Amino acid sequence: MCRIWKAAVILCAAAMLTGCAPQDASYERTEELFGTFVSAKIYCDDAKNAQAALDAAFARAGELECIFSPNIADSELNAVNAAAYAQDTAVSEDFLYLLEQSLYFTELTDGAFDCRLGELIDLWGIGTESAKIPTETECRNALLPSGDTTVSIHADGTVRFLDERVQLQFGAIAKGYIADEMKAVLDSFGIESGTLSLGGNVLTLGEKPSGDAWTVGITDPFSPGELYATVRVKGKSVVTSGNYERYFEENGVRYHHIFDPETGFPADAGLVSTTIIADSSLLCDALSTATYVLGAEEGMALIEQLDGAEAVFLTEDGEILTSSGMAEYELKQVTK
Ligand code: FAD
Ligand code: MG
Repeated sequence: MCRIWKAAVILCAAAMLTGCAPQDASYERTEELFGTFVSAKIYCDDAKNAQAALDAAFARAGELECIFSPNIADSELNAVNAAAYAQDTAVSEDFLYLLEQSLYFTELTDGAFDCRLGELIDLWGIGTESAKIPTETECRNALLPSGDTTVSIHADGTVRFLDERVQLQFGAIAKGYIADEMKAVLDSFGIESGTLSLGGNVLTLGEKPSGDAWTVGITDPFSPGELYATVRVKGKSVVTSGNYERYFEENGVRYHHIFDPETGFPADAGLVSTTIIADSSLLCDALSTATYVLGAEEGMALIEQLDGAEAVFLTEDGEILTSSGMAEYELKQVTK
């Protein structure tokens, strides 16, 4: 139940680095949220403040999970999906914000990012025990007209679906938003240095206490226990979408969880991993998914037209493609 969301605190001890200045004390916590692990490591010279900051940041994450989770029966997402075709439905401020952001990214990506795919996602069931390839008819029936004409947001903040098949889901953007919100909470406690990891989505706060950049690894989709590259960032988010996160295989074909909204099938545009680096974790999350669908040419063109966003793509042939500003982040291929 939402009010008593359970989170296992695996690690909450402070670890003093011997010989370090007081501000180098680090505090870590990992909790299970959103079906994955969320970890925070922060640097602070006040133990009480650090623990209070972590408590508040994880409480905010838990609150947002209760809004956006498809897996919590009484989440706001499930309530809105059940009600909004039949009637104008009031939504929370967080819900409205993420819906508006999602519709913005649908427009920006020419429909490659689409938060209305709940029915299609359930049909495939990827990541669940009932995962299966739907029939072409089932798939076609779940496809929605492109654009945002099937979701109406009214001036009073209520929402209405204009097509019975619309089921919202924020799997490709919510973790980004939640990371940004956790950062805002940590900021409010004066935490200037640390890292957040939400199932592989990384957000860095400022720089290391040493003044150095953070090194962030990018998973090798051909060997998911390893990295294929690293980047170095200060105060940026680094978010990756890949075909190795959730999938099943049948007759040698991999069916993964990132869908092309035009076909209703897993995106197959020649990329196996897309990483975006920017200030906003929400933007990184939305665009890592969207560029995966768009493919190298269109995906990179989109990133090049945006200020402050950079990208690293890995193609199915193992080629690494980078946007024009990537040099700043010292991309290094991991040699094996
Ligand atoms: P991303 O590339 O960022 O997103 C892929 C996901 O977005 C897909 O899984 C699908 O849901 C959706 N999607 C697919 N194609 C598109 C598209 N073209 N446009 C837009 N969206 C698309 N998982 C569990 O197993 N158990 C849980 O209890 C659970 N709870 C969750 C609670 C919340 C609040 C959220 C946000 C997710 C939860 N998940 C849960 C899902 C899980 O963590 C997902 O694997 C994750 O959100 C997908 O993120 P990603 O970074 O792997 O991939
Ligand atoms: Mg995403």
